[in-house]
Formats: sequence, structure tokens, C-alpha cells
Amino acid sequence: QRVAGLVARHTRDVADFPTPGVVFKDITPLFANAAAFGSVLDLLAERHEGGVDVVAGVEARGFVIGAPLAQRMGVGFVPIRKKGKLPGEVVAQSYDLEYGSATIEMHTDAVKPGARVLVIDDVLATGGTAVASCELVEKVGGSVVGFDVLVELAFLDGRARLERWPVHTGLVVG
Ligand code: IMP
Repeated sequence: QRVAGLVARHTRDVADFPTPGVVFKDITPLFANAAAFGSVLDLLAERHEGGVDVVAGVEARGFVIGAPLAQRMGVGFVPIRKKGKLPGEVVAQSYDLEYGSATIEMHTDAVKPGARVLVIDDVLATGGTAVASCELVEKVGGSVVGFDVLVELAFLDGRARLERWPVHTGLVVG
């Protein structure tokens, strides 16, 4: 898996972020390396060639990966944003966090009915964000053809919650 190798070489672990005991996977070194980031984007684009109408990126690192990927694939990019950020008419989806809940939104007219949507984020942890994102895409009328992330924290078993959608992950940790 070439994506896994590239991500592994350009990712660092940050201990005790954002809270004590958590080891945060920081992928900013990958973004900073034009050659490595470009190769990852090429591999993602190749994987989905011809099968995607729209790329939807999850705020915020999903934007960094999703927008250049959409350009490479020759399709449009749409944002999945935290509540209250999008200016137009929106559809919302709420999900549970460890403490409390969160809401994400998409523009109601972000995708055409039946459009094939590839959802992109950086890291799959518990899967809560991923499930909410895929459900939100379906709410606005899209068909989720894939959920792709660069890093999967397998010990949190987020994949188990995503059985309704094809999931591709790069580097699998734990
Ligand atoms: P989940 O909803 O628990 O799967 O968390 C996934 C979301 O939290 C994604 O949007 C990630 O960007 C973010 N996230 C969780 N853990 C990490 C990490 O170790 N590094 C970077 N982002 C993370």
C-alpha cells in the first residue's frame, strides 16, 4: 500500500494532544511536502478514477485533501462544515461525541440528486464524524461511493460503524 508508506513517513505522533493520554496523529508534515502530498493525491485519484462526480471534504483537514483531489479528478468540491459556517440553506446532521454532541452541515443544493460522492477526511477515529458525514451526503441527495481517510486508528474500531459504505484507509494504526 503506497499511500500507507507515504503517510507513515510524513506523519508524526504528538503525545497528550488535545487532552492528556491521547496520542494525536499529525499529518501536517505530509501537507508540507509537495512531492509526497502530490503522490498521495495521485494514488487517491487513481483509485476512484471515473467513479466520482463530487468530492465532499470534512472540515477542516478534509478540505486540505479534498479540494486538490477534486481538481485532479476533474470534479467539483463541496464542504461539510461545522454548524453555522455555511451561508446558504443547509441540511444538518448531529452526532454524539465523548462529551456532548456536534452538528455538521452541507448546503441543500451541494450535490445533484444521485450524484456519486466521495467523502474525504484525514483521520478515522471512533467513526462518529464519518457516519454523520455520509448520512449528511445522503440527506442532500447524494450517493456515497466511498469514505477515504489517510489514517485509521483501528483500536477505536470506527470501521465497524461504517459498514454501509465502502471505506478506504491509508495508514492503519493499532
Ligand atoms: P471520530 O469522529 O472519533 O472518528 O474522529 C474523527 C475526526 O476527529 C476527524 O475529523 C479527524 O480530523 C479528527 N481526529 C481524531 N483523532 C485525530 C488524530 O489523531 N489526528 C488528527 N485528527 C484526528
